[in-house]
Amino acid sequence: MIVVMKKDATKDQVEHMVQRITKLGLKPHVLVGVERTVVAAVGPEVDGLKESLEAGVGVAEVLPILAPYKVASREVKAEPTVICTGSLVVGGGTIGVIAGPCSVESEEQLLSTARACKAAGATALRGGAFKPRTSPYSFQGMKEEGLKLLAAARDATGLAVVTEVMATEDVELVARYADVLQIGARNMQNYRLLEAVGKSDKPVLLKRGPSATMEELLLAAEYVLDGGNPNVMLCERGIRTFESHTRFTLPLASVVYLHAKTHLPVVVDPSHGTGHTYLVPQMAAASVAAGADGLILEVHPHPESALSDGYQSLNFSQFSDTMALCRRVAEALNRKM
Ligand code: PEP
Ligand code: MN
Repeated sequence: MIVVMKKDATKDQVEHMVQRITKLGLKPHVLVGVERTVVAAVGPEVDGLKESLEAGVGVAEVLPILAPYKVASREVKAEPTVICTGSLVVGGGTIGVIAGPCSVESEEQLLSTARACKAAGATALRGGAFKPRTSPYSFQGMKEEGLKLLAAARDATGLAVVTEVMATEDVELVARYADVLQIGARNMQNYRLLEAVGKSDKPVLLKRGPSATMEELLLAAEYVLDGGNPNVMLCERGIRTFESHTRFTLPLASVVYLHAKTHLPVVVDPSHGTGHTYLVPQMAAASVAAGADGLILEVHPHPESALSDGYQSLNFSQFSDTMALCRRVAEALNRKM
């Protein structure tokens, strides 16, 4: 149920509602909007719940939440969620650009990339230190050494750091260095991991599983939100289809669909979504045109010698050209980039 509080409801009245919901065995989520505060009561059906909540002081109305995901739903919060952490702003008309190598490989590689990305207008640095690789024989990432290099690159450039956490037991370690915790596509339905980042105070970039439906993606986000972390960005990174001319198929309609269904910001990853450098610039621009709140792009000083995903990485000048192209689209749509 969504308890919509009256415009002039006091803090005490909201707090009282939170306690009543808790006593009924449900979980309260307070969502403070510009127009109104709502308290979502999430949990199993309780007989006579609507009537009981309607009787609360300061309550304007009580509505059922129809979507299977509750806190993520637009029904609960009409205004878009904006994620702000350090240099990165995603949502509310501002397009965040997260750029950097697939994997952190060395100090020189990371720092030169961070500087070039920042100069071209990126607002956050990406780089994997824990890498989920299809083969156990592929480069697995620099682990904590990589996290240290990311933190040093943040110190040098001021760019917020986005990096993947692969396992529940690593959440605390990664959160010590990162500004945003990335949940990789392969882990989208690792529910224990989602619960663990739900307890973190760091925003989460949740990537869509290659075979996950929109509803499964939103329910995965719900795990993080239900855990108490309201700062979730969804990421469309392409799905597996019969098509083989691209690494994955990048469905940009999901940006528009997700905006209709959720208040959470939507980031697009045209690097993994296409798997080919030459397809990335136009698909990045198309993502902006579709309304994406952010982009995540792989950039490498020498893509041909990258330890992972070189075939889909942009070099510095390609990234700079991509930014220029995307900015023109953003400007035409009155959005900041
Ligand atoms: C990545 O961002 O490098 C990555 C592994 O992405 P995904 O989880 O989308 O495959
Ligand atoms: Mn990659």
